[in-house]
Order: sequence, then structure tokens, then C-alpha cells
Amino acid sequence: GIMIVNKDYFGSYSSFGIHKEMISDKVRTDAYRQAIVDNPSLVKGAVVLDVGCGTGILSLFAAQGGASMVNAVEASGKMATVASQIAKDNGLLWNEASSGSTKQENGVVKVINSMVEDLIESGQIKPKSVDVLVSEWMGYCLLYESMLSSVLVARDHWLKPGGAILPDTATMFVAGFGKGATSIPFWENVYGFNMSSIGNELVKDAAHIPIVDVVDGNNLVTNTALLQAFDLVTMKPDEVDFTASVQLEQKSSNSTEVDLTTTKCYGVVLWFETSFTSRFCKEAPTVLSTSPYTTPTHWSQTLLTLNEPISLTSKMTTKSCAMVGSEANPAVKIDTRISIARGVEHRSIDISLEVTAVG
Ligand code: SAH
Repeated sequence: GIMIVNKDYFGSYSSFGIHKEMISDKVRTDAYRQAIVDNPSLVKGAVVLDVGCGTGILSLFAAQGGASMVNAVEASGKMATVASQIAKDNGLLWNEASSGSTKQENGVVKVINSMVEDLIESGQIKPKSVDVLVSEWMGYCLLYESMLSSVLVARDHWLKPGGAILPDTATMFVAGFGKGATSIPFWENVYGFNMSSIGNELVKDAAHIPIVDVVDGNNLVTNTALLQAFDLVTMKPDEVDFTASVQLEQKSSNSTEVDLTTTKCYGVVLWFETSFTSRFCKEAPTVLSTSPYTTPTHWSQTLLTLNEPISLTSKMTTKSCAMVGSEANPAVKIDTRISIARGVEHRSIDISLEVTAVG
């Protein structure tokens, strides 16, 4: 259940700083904006529930998209107060007192300060009355500190049968990374001196500790495998914990030359995509990707380093061999088994990784 984050996320950053970081992540915010504002057949006239509204940005988009009512639920008292003020300052706040009077005086955003789970008792939102549930619930490695369980509670209590969830799918991917994604190259040549003993030490220390950092797609040495796909509409709450197995093999290069040199796989990188599919977003479906092959987001990627790197070679150049994965006899494939489960500590996750080199 430990994860090392390369920024002091909850320390020196104020909570407003976190919201600034999220809103400034254009890949993230533009995907939500497009899903909410550019799909009028879904949002126009709809009753919306925003689970964890923060500053209220997604609720403001929903109001902009023509929603008839937006329930913006936020657990933090400080953020709920701010979200109300912001909705008011933009003429979008729902005002109980003036609900009978002229339309111009009244917005559609109703901010509710509560854990979404605690709202069930209060009856403030009628059960099965919501057309569109929207939430930005994703954490590092999709599930670290994720609010997915809270979103599923909200879905089961308030969403109308056939109602929409934005996003409606979430998919996790895995690929092997090479030396270039580690700190080894940096220490190999420091002003002309070989300091690689530091790099080797750092890689050894990183074994089995998840690290959140940006990886460049060029530093991936295997194919990308789909690890787990969640359908937010149909998944059951206990399906948040899973075990999945995939096979990784050396990334096919465009070169036609037979390359006899071997590449080492130092570990695996995990990332996710969430999609706003045409199931609900008929006019403008969109994908929010945190892949190493696309523009980095504030989620970066998550790296799991192996105790020992595995030497890889392509199928083309390898004969079957007794010893696999060694320097002399490289592996053709890496069988990779990953389990992710919510930890005992609130919102932490336990990740387990098992690899087997296959000749
Ligand atoms: N929707 C905003 C904020 C996303 S961050 C945006 O897209 O920018 C998630 C927010 O959800 C945080 O403000 C957090 O305080 C809130 N939150 C987390 N769990 C919650 C829960 N169970 N009920 C209500 N709010 C929650």
C-alpha cells in the first residue's frame, strides 16, 4: 500500500494548489469539457450529479451545456463554500428562495456539502432521479486514492435506469520499460566520470516500490497489453479489486534488419485511459489517456521496478533455451501477473507484481 509520489502532493501544496494542478491539466479538463459541453443530446435539460465537485468546474460545464439541474456534491467544507461562491459569481447558483421567480435570477448549480455516501440518508436528492452522473474520480495508477467506490454508490442510488456515467469506461494498460526510464543513464556519465554505481543502487532500491513519474514511450521495450477494463455502467463494487495476467514481448521495431543485440526490461509501467464513449456521448465521444505515448498528464505513469532486469530478444532471433532471461539466453516473453486491491488504510492500494521469463 505504499506509493512514492515525486511531488509533495498533500504537504506543502495547499488544497487550492491541488485544484489548480487538476484544472491546469488540459488533457484532463478538455476531455471532460468536451464530453459535457459538446454532447447536447445527453446534457441539455438533464438532471446531473457531480460526485466530488471541488471548485465546481464540471458542474459549471454542465450548466453551460444546458443541464436543467446540477447537484454538485463535495465532502470538503472549504471547497463546497468556494464552489457555491464561484457558481454565484458566474450567475449559475441555484437559489432556493428565488426558485419561483424569473429564470434569469436563478442558476441550476446546487452545491451540497456532504460525503456522497452520507447523502443517501438525507433524501436531498430523490433516488433514481439523475440522468447524468459525472465525476473525476481517478487517482494515480487509476485506483490509488480513487473515489471509484463512491461513484458506484452514487450510481446505484441516484442514477435513473439507463442513465449515463461520464466517463463510462476505464482501462488499465501495462508495458515493460528499459534502461532509459531509469536513473541509470544519468549516472553513467557525470562530467565524464562513471558514477553508475549510484544508478545501480537506485534501481535496486526501487524494486517493488511503485513510483509515479513521467515515462517517455521511447523508453518502453515491450508491446503494450491491456491489463483490466472496467465498464462503469455494469461493474460491481467488489470488481474494483482484481488480478490479471498478460504476456509482454519485445516491442516490434520498424527496422527490417535482424537485431541480435538484446534489450533489458527493468520493470513495468502502468497507466490508464477513461473514455466517454458514443454509448452516451453521441455527438462528441472522447478519450482521456494517460499513456506514455501521449501528452503527459498530472497522473504521470506508475513504474514498478524488478529486482533484476530481464534480457529480452525478439522471437525472430531466439532458439528455445533452458535458462531464460539471463544475459546469455534472453527471454522471448515475460508472463506478468498483477493484482491490485484496496488496502486497509483508507484509499491506499496494494499492488503485487509477479514476472516469469519465458524462453
Ligand atoms: N470535480 C473537480 C474535483 C475533482 S477532485 C474537478 O474535476 O476539478 C475530487 C473531489 O472529490 C475533491 O474535491 C474531494 O474533496 C471530493 N471527494 C472525494 N471523495 C468524496 C466523497 N465520497 N463525497 C463527496 N466528495 C468527495
